[in-house]
Amino acid sequence: MSSIRLDIVTAERVVYSDDVDVVVAPGIEGQLGILPHHAPLMTTLREGELRVRKGGEEFLLAISGGFLEVRPDRIIVLADAAERAVEIDVARAEAAKRRAEEELSRRAPEVDTAQAEAALRRSLIRLQVAEKRRKRKPGA
Ligand code: ATP
Repeated sequence: MSSIRLDIVTAERVVYSDDVDVVVAPGIEGQLGILPHHAPLMTTLREGELRVRKGGEEFLLAISGGFLEVRPDRIIVLADAAERAVEIDVARAEAAKRRAEEELSRRAPEVDTAQAEAALRRSLIRLQVAEKRRKRKPGA
């Protein structure tokens, strides 16, 4: 099976860089599956799960939105934030979820609802990705 280089980067770091078989990314208009030899593409990502398949194994990352570009030789994801499942600090994501829920429930005028909703979505994605990894085999 042919493969394609996948680079997932944020402003802070290279999160992932390897040759992969398939990428399924959270596009704003739905799941976006990319195989090697895909046509060039530039699109926006929402918060969600990014799935990578390599050598018969699949693993997950949490992505907090960004951009995805398909070039002839590589796929580049420029993410606002991204964590491999194994990197996710569950206690931190739970605390972020509680904070966002509390802010949204207060409905106080000083609360930035859109920001709290986005923080809630990020925390839920992180918890979902960490939970799926926990149910799968180690190394994901
Ligand atoms: P928090 O309120 O806990 O900081 P957040 O959603 O506001 O969460 P971001 O601004 O999206 O955090 O990310 C800031 C940095 O912290 C990024 O590098 C991101 O990868 C990392 N990060 C955020 N939450 C977690 C987590 N639960 N586990 C591991 N890394 C995290």
